[in-house]
Amino acid sequence: MSFIHYSLGELKKCLDQKELSATEITKAFLERAQSLNPKINAYISFNEKAVEQAEQVDSKLHKGETVGPLSGLPIAIKDLLCTRGLKTTAASRMLENFVPPYSATVVERLEKAGGIVLGKANLDEFAMGSSNETSYFGPCKNPWNADYVPGGSSGGSAAAVAASMAPASIGTDTGGSIRQPANFCGVVGVKPTYGRVSRYGIVAFASSLDQAGPMTKTVYDSALMLEVISGADEHDSTTSQRPVPKWSGALNENLKGLKIGLPKEYFSGQISADTQKVVEQSLEIVKSQGAEVVEVSLPLVKYGIPIYYLIATSEASSNLARYDGVRYGYRSNFQEIPARDLAEFYSRTRGEGFGSEVKRRIILGTYCLSAGYYDAYYKKASQVRRLLTEEFKQAFTQCDVLLSPVTTHPAFKVGERVDDPLQMYLNDIYTTSTNLAGLPGMSVPAGFSSEGLPIGVQLTAAHFDEQTMLNVAYAIEKSVSLTKEWADV
Ligand code: GLN
Repeated sequence: MSFIHYSLGELKKCLDQKELSATEITKAFLERAQSLNPKINAYISFNEKAVEQAEQVDSKLHKGETVGPLSGLPIAIKDLLCTRGLKTTAASRMLENFVPPYSATVVERLEKAGGIVLGKANLDEFAMGSSNETSYFGPCKNPWNADYVPGGSSGGSAAAVAASMAPASIGTDTGGSIRQPANFCGVVGVKPTYGRVSRYGIVAFASSLDQAGPMTKTVYDSALMLEVISGADEHDSTTSQRPVPKWSGALNENLKGLKIGLPKEYFSGQISADTQKVVEQSLEIVKSQGAEVVEVSLPLVKYGIPIYYLIATSEASSNLARYDGVRYGYRSNFQEIPARDLAEFYSRTRGEGFGSEVKRRIILGTYCLSAGYYDAYYKKASQVRRLLTEEFKQAFTQCDVLLSPVTTHPAFKVGERVDDPLQMYLNDIYTTSTNLAGLPGMSVPAGFSSEGLPIGVQLTAAHFDEQTMLNVAYAIEKSVSLTKEWADV
């Protein structure tokens, strides 16, 4: 097997033993990514300096200089994170030509650790969507079967890893956008506890929910990347001051003494037979590793979707007000057809710059926040959000990690739901509550559907208990050993 399907951990070993150079690795991934991109559309743009940066790492290695834990490893970055000197579009016409003067803290930390930005991964416009179909740059396809969506909004980040167009990537998760595409593409995806990872330099969608996290081939790789990107940041006052544990060094598949909670409300929906089977197999695995399975109840999760879509759209309407055609971003052509007044200046710019899903959300969010409706919608949603968080805290007095499906079904077909926003929103039924409560959550590959599409299981842990969650994922990964079966594109 060529090294192209290797995990970060395996590539790192080859680099340490001087079997491969950073330049060889970066060139190989760049070539593969560029040749598969017309089919998969996982990338919006590539970093033209990637090979040059790899050469610099090699020369450091050659001189015996100390290098970081990700030295020479290429990484795809969701095009929602600012990269200094590299276009950052949020998959929107609004930011089609935006070149940020600074990098997101996550990107800075990856680069400081020696990581190389390979390119900017496709996504739903402003991370709003569950299928990567709202991207201004066209949909990304699922590498397991290009008739299917890769999930969203971090579809490009998931597809890039599944198709070995990058050994690892960064996604963001506001209501499921790391876990759901990881689930659809058969990769590991981790949404950290809210506050673990700095949001500085990430194009804001819903600030009280957004978190960035790794998408990788193995649990170890995710743990390693998470160590690099986590920790307090003076540029983001919502980051936690807690020390960052060495998760990758403490992975342990022995689950003796752990209690795995099955939230019964997550199993009352219409779950596909394949998904059900994969979840049951995972339960057998955790039991065989010594864990005890207990049933728990989270009655308020049934309101997860309405609370999420009220809060996320409200925050989005406020965050997206900055795209007014004055400060930066797209501006309508007023030279040819002048605007009559300021209102027309804004409305034409925003009407042309935003896609229809983004506009739908701005309208809904503005309505929720407007005088007269604020108490009934935004305030009420915030109150129920608090109660939901308390319910989760209560559940974690009875168990250590929750295990559930990520979605009711494996990936759906391109075009199947794009004209039915409500159907699309319902896809997030098992993922949004995690963000509302600020908990860490992840998807770990656990099986395949009868059509050969990957299926993951979702694990959710108490605030800041990423380690226990990663350990359960590690146990599942070891027993199902699917990680070598990469999409054959
Ligand atoms: N699918 C959800 C939405 O459309 C979640 C998006 C996300 O997590 N960025 O809002």
